[in-house]
This record gives sequence, structure tokens and C-alpha cells, in this order.
Amino acid sequence: MKDTFTHKGMRKKLVETLIAKGIKDTCVLDAINTVPRHLFMDSGFEGHAYVDKPFPIAADQTISQPYTVARQTELLEVQKGKKVLEIGTGSGYQAAILLEMGFKVYTIERQNELFKKVNLFLPKLGYRPKKIIFGDGYKGFPESAPYDGIVVTAGAPDVPKALLAQLKIGGRLVIPIGVNVQIMTVFTRTSENKFKKNEYGEYRFVPLLEDKN
Ligand code: SAH
Repeated sequence: MKDTFTHKGMRKKLVETLIAKGIKDTCVLDAINTVPRHLFMDSGFEGHAYVDKPFPIAADQTISQPYTVARQTELLEVQKGKKVLEIGTGSGYQAAILLEMGFKVYTIERQNELFKKVNLFLPKLGYRPKKIIFGDGYKGFPESAPYDGIVVTAGAPDVPKALLAQLKIGGRLVIPIGVNVQIMTVFTRTSENKFKKNEYGEYRFVPLLEDKN
């Protein structure tokens, strides 16, 4: 697996694009500048890895657009060493960004093919989540709750109650809500029973699917 001088140059340009689009968090930008996105792409698409676009991966899913990954991570507002749960592991790229930033990462994927692939691939790159979970992200992962931040990387028709319940007080859930178009929404837990809601514009994600059993 190679990360060449050329890739590094392309990543630097991508970071400049993200700054121009409004990303300000330097920890996020440093992580984008470090994680080799081309290694997370399916063959045939590696050449496009540093274009600010989503691309297809296995199981009819997508690797999110770098801007979206950067924006969702920025909106988490989590400090190094804190605990973050990701719903929708997909290619593992978002998880690698979170790990690069020094978070304790838990990530859930419901497609077995993607789960198995990421399980082998992330450690090969030296990225070690606390746990990669094969299951339904709607339920969160109560075993390791509460979390400082939860990031959902698929579009949810509504906010899953289980995810709100697994936030620490002061913790933030970053979730795109909507069916065809999603509104990036942040829920901050202000007390045991209270949540503050903020919205941050329109996005398009693959759907968050619920396993009915
Ligand atoms: N974070 C990923 C984005 C992948 S796209 C990346 O950086 O590449 C969204 C992912 O969410 C898909 O892999 C899809 O299979 C997964 N997904 C959809 N519904 C889910 C659910 N209920 N639980 C867990 N994962 C889910």
C-alpha cells in the first residue's frame, strides 16, 4: 500500500479546497491532510480520491464526500481522547479521520461485506478502533455508552431515540435527517432530559436502514 509524494500533494490541495468551503477546525484539516483516502476507494476510483466528491464502494454504498466528513467531524466539537460512536462504517474513512484525531472510536456497520473488509483493513493502516460492531446502528452501542459524540453517516428519516439516550450530558449527536434530502442536525444534550437542536444545511446521504427484528 503506497502513499506517495504525489498523493501528499493532492491531499494538500484538497485541504485548501475544504478551507475555501468554510472548514476551520485545524485538527480536522490536519487529519484530512494525513489519512490516505485513495486507499479507502474501490479499484477504478483511486485516481479520484482527492476530488471533493463521494464515490461508490461495495454493497451499493458510498464513501462520503471529504467536505461532508470534515463538516460532520467539526460539528462534533469533541476533544482528543474523548469517546465517539460512528453509525455507518462504510469504507472506514470517517473512522480513520476520527482515530487520526485521537478519539476513542466505536463504529457500527450493518453490511457484513463492509464490516469484514474494514475489520482487516483499518489495522493494516495502523488505525485501531476500540470496537467495530456488526449490527444495527439504530440501536447504538449501549455497552460502551455514554459517548461524548455520535456521528451518523447515513440519512435518517427521524432521530433514533437510542442514540440520544447514549449521549453524555454536554455530548453531541451529528445526524443528517430527511428522506430524499437531509438536513445536517446537531442535538446537544444539555441535561438528563433536555436536548438543544441546531440545523446546518442540506446534504444527500445513502439511507440509514432499520433492521426489523
Ligand atoms: N462513514 C462512511 C460512509 C458510508 S455510507 C465512510 O466514511 O465511508 C453509510 C453507511 O451506513 C453504509 O455503509 C451503510 O451500509 C451504513 N448503514 C446504513 N444503515 C445502517 C444501520 N442501521 N446501522 C449501521 N450502518 C448502517
